[in-house]
Amino acid sequence: MITKKNFSLKNYNSFRIDVKAKEFIEINSKKELIKLNELLKNEKILFLGGGSNVLFTKDYDGTVIYLNIKGINIEKENFDFSVVKANAGVNWSDFIKFCLDNNLGGVENLSLIPGNVGSAPVQNIGAYGVELKDVFLSCEVFNSDDFSLKDFSLSDCKFEYRNSIFKKRKNLIILSVRLKLKNNNHNINTSYGGINEELKKLNINNPTIKDISKVVCNIRRRKLPDPDQIGNAGSFFKNPIISKEKLNWIEKHHRDVPSYKIDQDYFKIPAAWLIEAAGLKGKKFGKFGIHKSQPLVLVNYGGAKGEDIYKLSLSIKQIIKKIFKIELETEVNII
Ligand SMILES: Cc1cc2nc3c(=O)[nH]c(=O)nc-3n(C[C@H](O)[C@H](O)[C@H](O)COP(=O)(O)OP(=O)(O)OC[C@H]3O[C@@H](n4cnc5c(N)ncnc54)[C@H](O)[C@@H]3O)c2cc1C
Repeated sequence: MITKKNFSLKNYNSFRIDVKAKEFIEINSKKELIKLNELLKNEKILFLGGGSNVLFTKDYDGTVIYLNIKGINIEKENFDFSVVKANAGVNWSDFIKFCLDNNLGGVENLSLIPGNVGSAPVQNIGAYGVELKDVFLSCEVFNSDDFSLKDFSLSDCKFEYRNSIFKKRKNLIILSVRLKLKNNNHNINTSYGGINEELKKLNINNPTIKDISKVVCNIRRRKLPDPDQIGNAGSFFKNPIISKEKLNWIEKHHRDVPSYKIDQDYFKIPAAWLIEAAGLKGKKFGKFGIHKSQPLVLVNYGGAKGEDIYKLSLSIKQIIKKIFKIELETEVNII
């Protein structure tokens, strides 16, 4: 266990916001966490993984617990499936690499999402037509209110689009995650976000899970700013789900609005399209702004304050509401 006082979190959040935590504790095992939590009973606590889905708006007047519990193992396997358990502090990209090296299919479309395994269920990470819930079996959860440990099943987690029980109940800390992955006859999913086009470009006809991962990484590197170069936390807003009537109303003014049918009555539309249509794409305000090619991503060009980025997000919401009568929902956790 490593403890630091008045510690800068600049290297622990992908927005690279320079705020300080009153106390910062790195935890390397489940035992350390349980012991520590009893000591911190009345303390304000924030659990942190890779910091790629948080925006710090001020110094953190409490204890940040950095969960660095490592380890991946295959718990069970038969001809078709393997059950893989990974601890919370495993970097998600290292986990993807483990799966590809062991020919385990199901997470290849989620390649290059930053962050750690323990945070993946929090917003049910998703990309390129796949969500964590599609391969999720269970996770071990520590309740920091009563110090109990419990396995949460798929239904316990209440997964939805970029949402789960963990987003609302901050006392539930994920210690490890179990996924059910395919050993053979992989369900190759190329239907989304230009994967097919990229495969064609590379002359790949029967893609393996390694090919899919490579193609997804290529597309992501082209489309998204690398947080090591420009501070950001990926998509700042969720894609709104709107009624058919609202879509018809928008289509009257903007024939080109893209939409994806959820069911008879509801459609998902890209928040990025709304922000671009509002003329906000690429707007720069000194040290921060809206990314020039991916308007869903707010960026810190260096030295920005989290509070300024937060205020920018509120202005974007207001503008979108005024023009389109749609309330954008924030995806990033505001701290
Ligand atoms: C460039 C970029 C691209 C991205 N692309 C995607 C994408 O395609 N799809 C997608 O879904 N997300 C995407 N994200 C968002 C982010 O990568 C994911 O949400 C990721 O799962 C966050 O992991 P983390 O470890 O960094 O979480 P953190 O930012 O550390 O934490 C996120 C939240 O989870 C809580 N938390 C952390 N660890 C635990 C735990 N063990 N138990 C309970 N709560 C915990 C934190 O308190 C915080 O509220 C992107 C981010 C960036 C920067």
